[in-house]
Amino acid sequence: MSAAFPATIYVAPVVTMDADRPMADAFAVLCDRIVGVGSVDEVRALVGADASVVELSGVVLPGLIDAHLHMERGGLKALSYLPEDATLAAFIETMRRTFHDADWAGAEPPTLDERVKALDVVQPWLHALGITGVVDPASTIDEMRGYQEAHRRGRLTMRTLAMPYLPIGTLEIPDVDAAITHLDGTGVSTGFGDDMLRVGPIKVYADGEALKGQAYLDEPWDSTGYRGLQRIEDAEFARLVDWCANNGWGVGTHAVGSAAIAAVTAAYRAAGPAVVDRRFQLIHAYLEPSLETIRAAAEARVIASLQPSIIWHNGRGLRAKLGDRAEHANPVRSWLDAGATVAFGSDGPFFPFDPRHLIWQAVTRRVEGEDQPLSMDEAITVDDALAAYTTGAAYAAMADDHRGMIREGYIADWALWEADPRSIAIDDLRRLRVLRTDVGGRTVYRRAA
Ligand SMILES: [Zn+2]
Repeated sequence: MSAAFPATIYVAPVVTMDADRPMADAFAVLCDRIVGVGSVDEVRALVGADASVVELSGVVLPGLIDAHLHMERGGLKALSYLPEDATLAAFIETMRRTFHDADWAGAEPPTLDERVKALDVVQPWLHALGITGVVDPASTIDEMRGYQEAHRRGRLTMRTLAMPYLPIGTLEIPDVDAAITHLDGTGVSTGFGDDMLRVGPIKVYADGEALKGQAYLDEPWDSTGYRGLQRIEDAEFARLVDWCANNGWGVGTHAVGSAAIAAVTAAYRAAGPAVVDRRFQLIHAYLEPSLETIRAAAEARVIASLQPSIIWHNGRGLRAKLGDRAEHANPVRSWLDAGATVAFGSDGPFFPFDPRHLIWQAVTRRVEGEDQPLSMDEAITVDDALAAYTTGAAYAAMADDHRGMIREGYIADWALWEADPRSIAIDDLRRLRVLRTDVGGRTVYRRAA
């Protein structure tokens, strides 16, 4: 084959995340696509002799996808605290220090220009961590406008699946009927968009936050019998899910506690093929889900969208509140063993969002401020964690047939790491550097020499 536009062959060990060919020696890119994967000779035979060859020093992985990152909000927060030329390290440290600040947004709502600027600022920091895509799990109407404007101006470099946030129970959207009216009035639904910006499932809340004692549990929080906060009644939730299933929408539901996870799973199971088509998600799903619920959700092909960052941050507090009941928090191993698709994300940038740290947490089960890890029964391997950040998260991003692997025909989203994350000591993983990141064949990050 001799193409009008010659391909580029990249030569380096490639961790493909493709079960059909887990490792390769080279891959070729033409425009925004991967057009060959294999040995150097195989790839050369595929793309022709006029292809240019680039030897890379390091190991190539698919670009990571953070399946739960409030990217635009994070950018706005960065704008309000940091100079525009701040470093990634300063951003991480500032987000950590200002975790509890609630009123950072200022009196005036940000303008469209400011929203685009926020994305300009935050995207490069995420690319520097090997991230090429995100699921924004709660996009307000204004955030949607910001993403659309950034995309229109050609400034979106992060592939984004934006989940419209419906704050049911507020003045804006008082009840399920109002939510349905709102969704019905948009004229679009889950899946609308393109490979840079797509409308995801809606985001709703079934319960609250665990450290506030609001996770809705089967077993009471304490001797008073209090079981947490159920934010939407079962029948109303089921009605919303049913409407979404029949009207082109997917559903992602914040459900932290066992009772909330079970209720959401039961409603999803009645939604039929829409669950797979529109990637229904259980979001967080980390506190005491029963094995029965986990299996039922996995069988219905509901995505477990899990965040090792939340457990890192909350582990100590959960032990203080629940004692031994905290040990199995975030049961990633159980979700995987049940056959669920697990998508990893961070809930960043408010929670820690460095994927190296999160992979390390999921493997070691360590939590902030404690010497003892949580129960190792729920520990996973680096390979499992990488799958949750690539193939699993690509599934959640409605892109598993063209992202999340280095595979012929897939989009050329990849990152060059110093070494294979699976082959180094686990504690060294947190310092392993990303050297280069490409989105759609275009370099969006290159580490300064
Ligand atoms: Zn979140």
